[in-house]
Amino acid sequence: MKIIIHGGFFSESSQTAETKIAKQQSLTNIIDRSWDYLKEHTAAETAVFAVSLLEDDELFNAGTGSQIQSDGKIRMSASLMNGETQKFSGVINIESVKNPIKVAELLKDEDDRVLGGQGAKIYASAHGIEDYSTEIPQRRSEYEEKLKNGGLGTVGCVVLDKDGKLAAATSTGGKGFELVGRISDSATVAGNYANRHCAVSCTGVGEDIVSNATATKIVTRVSDGLSVQEAFRRTFSELAEIDGFAGAIGIDSYGNIHFQESHPTMVFAAYDGEKHMMFK
Ligand code: ASP
Repeated sequence: MKIIIHGGFFSESSQTAETKIAKQQSLTNIIDRSWDYLKEHTAAETAVFAVSLLEDDELFNAGTGSQIQSDGKIRMSASLMNGETQKFSGVINIESVKNPIKVAELLKDEDDRVLGGQGAKIYASAHGIEDYSTEIPQRRSEYEEKLKNGGLGTVGCVVLDKDGKLAAATSTGGKGFELVGRISDSATVAGNYANRHCAVSCTGVGEDIVSNATATKIVTRVSDGLSVQEAFRRTFSELAEIDGFAGAIGIDSYGNIHFQESHPTMVFAAYDGEKHMMFK
C-alpha cells in the first residue's frame, strides 16, 4: 500500500513561511488519516476520502478553500480515475457543493460520467448532496488580494491499495480570476489519469497541462514499459518545450513513487506506512 497527496504549488512570493508550515502539517494529518482508511478501503475509495479532506481545508484551492473566478464566483472541478475499472468520472465548474470529488465519485457508475456547470449541480442535488456555499463574503477582499498574487494550490491524491489496484483523484477551484466558462485540467485525463500500471495527479497551469497531456502521457509511458521516473522525465522535458508550468505526483503498480515539477515548489506528502516523505 502506498499513498501520495499534494496541495498544489506554493507561492514563495505571496505566501508566508507560516502558511507553508500549516499546509505541511495539514498534509501530514490528512495522509495519516487516509493511510488508516486505506487499510480497509480500495484505492478509489481512499483517493476520494483523502481529496475530500483536502477540499475541507481552507488552506488549499479546492472545495471550501476554492479561488474566485473573474466574476467573483466560485466554480469547482474534480475527477476520479479508477485504474482498475479504467473509468473516469468528474464534474466541471460545479457551484455550491462542499465536496466536488464526492459528486465525481457518485458519477462513476453512470453512463454519463462527466457533467458540467448547472447539470452537475442538478445531478448532485438529485443524489442527496446538500447545497453548500463556498463563498466567503466577509473575506472577499482579503482573498482577492491574496489570490491576485498567486494561487492557493489544487489538491490531488494517488493510491496503491493492498490488492495492487491504483486510483487518482484531483480537485481544484481553478487558476483564479479566469474567464467564466474556462475549463480546468483537473477534470480531464491530462490532469488526472490512472490505469492498472500507473496513477498520476497534476497541478499547475491547466492550459499547459492539457497541451502537454501530462498525466495521460506519463501513465501511457509506464504502461509501455518505461520506469515511472523515465516516464516523468520525458513528459516534463516535452512540457519544457512549451515553457509549461506544472507539477505531478505518480505511483506505479509496484509502489514506485515519483514527483516532478517544472518550477518550485509543490507542497506534498508521501506515505508508505513507515515514514512520511515530506518534500518542500
Ligand atoms: N490546474 C489548475 C487549473 O488550471 C490550477 C492549479 O493546479 O493550481 O485549473
